[in-house]
Amino acid sequence: MDIIPYFLYIQIVKNLFQYGMIVFRKDDNMLKIGCHLSIVDGLYKAGLKAISIDANTFQFFTRNPRGGKAKDLDRDELDKLRQLMEEHDIGPIVAHGAYTMNLASDKIQTREFAKMILKDDLERLKLIPNAYYVFHPGSHVGQGSDMGIELIVDALNDLIDENNNTTILLEGMSGKGTEIGRNMEELKAIIDGVKHNEKLGICIDTCHLYSAGYNIVDDLDGVLKEIDDIIGLDRLKAVHLNDSKVDFYSHKDRHEVIGKGTIGLRALVNVINHPLLKDLPFNLETPNDLEGYKREIEILRREYR
Ligand code: FE
Ligand code: FE
Ligand code: ZN
Repeated sequence: MDIIPYFLYIQIVKNLFQYGMIVFRKDDNMLKIGCHLSIVDGLYKAGLKAISIDANTFQFFTRNPRGGKAKDLDRDELDKLRQLMEEHDIGPIVAHGAYTMNLASDKIQTREFAKMILKDDLERLKLIPNAYYVFHPGSHVGQGSDMGIELIVDALNDLIDENNNTTILLEGMSGKGTEIGRNMEELKAIIDGVKHNEKLGICIDTCHLYSAGYNIVDDLDGVLKEIDDIIGLDRLKAVHLNDSKVDFYSHKDRHEVIGKGTIGLRALVNVINHPLLKDLPFNLETPNDLEGYKREIEILRREYR
């Protein structure tokens, strides 16, 4: 008579265990995707907005993208954000530096201004939970890449010391105008020049890569091998997921809605599913409103394996 309840007990434990396994696997295989969001109403509100579109990462400008003063960070708000991120398994999130920040300018005032902004941004990042910092390396404005890289390296060496705890990511660029970071060699040269580069990595942008001549549509494996050979994939910490309005190798930078551009949905789905990339945070910077981002996230989650 005792054998029946015992058997049932085993069954229940077994079922619970199986259920636990399923939950574990699901959490373990969760696409980290989000989009660029405005923080005009604060970081906590941005977190709520992310949740409303089923995002589990998001990106924001630390200040007005054209430069200018950053809003003061509120301790209470940051605590609320931290709690929200923990509860909903959000993060890492990505802070993006201002576009106008040019550490490679030929004008000392412009370089000093950029350094001041970067310094302030890095101070603020210490307070923001589980956040990476991404910025565009800069433009050499005719001085040549070597000079531009040297100026960026000098600036970063002034700002990054042995106590730095923020993951700082150089974004790979399309190579428009005199942009630095148009190829892996340039990003690598910056990383190598920085003394305390332990926390210095890269962020790739699918639109920029394709424009810069990295064929992620026909040869994603080859592109990843090249990144690995030159920089090392351990430095790659974040991805901007964008389609492109312009042709391969055009050195132009025009983002397009996922699936509507020259890269196409299939290639972007391969990016999120690639074994070497699939655990990274992906952020959309496509021309969209919140509804559009929600749709893109839904499509990409459905295609995630
Ligand atoms: Fe960017
Ligand atoms: Fe980008
Ligand atoms: Zn871009």
